[in-house]
Amino acid sequence: MTTTRQDCLARDAADPLRELRDLFDLPEGTIYLDGNSLGVMPRATPQRVAQVVQDEWGRDLIKSWNTAGWIHLPQRVGDKIAQLVGAGPGELVVADSTSVNLFKVLTAALRITDEDAPERNVIVSERSNFPTDLYIAEGLARSQGYELVLVEPDEIAAHLNERLAVLMLTQVNYRTGRVHDMAALTAAAHRAGALVVWDLCHSAGAIPVDLTGADADFAVGCGYKYLNGGPGAPAFVWAHPRHAGRFWQPLSGWMGHAEPFEFTPEYRPATGITRYLCGTPPVISLAALECGVDTLLAAQPLGGLAALRRKSIALTELFIELVESRCQGHGLSLASPRDAGIRGSQVCFAHESGGYAMVQALIARGVIGDFRAPDVLRFGFTPLYTSHADVWDAVEHFVQVLEKEEWREARFNQRAAVT
Ligand SMILES: *Cc1c(COP(=O)(O)O)cnc(C)c1O
Repeated sequence: MTTTRQDCLARDAADPLRELRDLFDLPEGTIYLDGNSLGVMPRATPQRVAQVVQDEWGRDLIKSWNTAGWIHLPQRVGDKIAQLVGAGPGELVVADSTSVNLFKVLTAALRITDEDAPERNVIVSERSNFPTDLYIAEGLARSQGYELVLVEPDEIAAHLNERLAVLMLTQVNYRTGRVHDMAALTAAAHRAGALVVWDLCHSAGAIPVDLTGADADFAVGCGYKYLNGGPGAPAFVWAHPRHAGRFWQPLSGWMGHAEPFEFTPEYRPATGITRYLCGTPPVISLAALECGVDTLLAAQPLGGLAALRRKSIALTELFIELVESRCQGHGLSLASPRDAGIRGSQVCFAHESGGYAMVQALIARGVIGDFRAPDVLRFGFTPLYTSHADVWDAVEHFVQVLEKEEWREARFNQRAAVT
């Protein structure tokens, strides 16, 4: 017996996290399955941003660096994110973009291994890692004389050897949603004498993460996905305290200086993670990001990330069950792990047509997922604001798109700039 819509409504009524949906402004008639790409706007954000713009900037002007605490925002929001990823207070800051932060931590990790073991000259990553991660690593490898080796997930273990300097992985794969075992891989890389850089873009706010427990070395992650920080929200960067003070990071800007307002001509790095700041913080974006992070902290009294993870698994299991039973015979195949234990908060299906037009036809019906080249339809499930009934309704639309062959219409087959 497949699950009915009535069953879904009953599950929603019994959902301990259901009230969290009220923290968000979900547009009427939209089922949003793309929180893994751009999180929904929290209800608190417009007012907070207006306050920053009108009162703190408009009225109080430059005094707000002190009076409104603008200067401490990278650390203040960083401490909140730290709670979501198993880092301690004062260990994580918000700055720049994920791409830029990767450049900083990968450079630092390479310098540490170079000091301890100069013969190590290989960076290993996954071929299906998010492209910007690979491009940053490729650029660094070229400029600093390293070899970047790209492997499949099951080949990683074979590359943990005496040539490895840094293993750079994204914990949850952006396309398939497959989750790496952070603790096990970190331990294995350490046994081989290498360091590990973790990208948490699809982990932070999506699954429980324990950087300290995993004894990780460095981590970066994104503010605009599951952290609901808004388009282009700044990213975060963490270094284990044993590494944070060891090197200048390569972008030694004044906000990472020990005393930026002494305006000395020489750089003297701040202690700890503060040195991973570079230039002036984006205050308005940081205020919006804080509202987004607060929606996740609002789940703490309701069980926090463990409860969010339970609901996320229930939603992704439901979506797989309903698509596989109700969309049978249309050539869709599951492209995410079937085992929920190694699947993030998303589900992907592959289709031989590519799937782009199917995603467009779904969007026209108000079901927003996305397409990832070459052939993946990707659906993210954010337990903060997605209900079981949303999942049922999304699949009902999917059935219509397939059975009426709506996706074959020409208008759904025009590629836009952003997919
Ligand atoms: C989203 C994402 C990024 C984005 O990087 P930006 O610098 O914000 O463009 C990087 N890496 C991964 C794994 C991502 O999922």
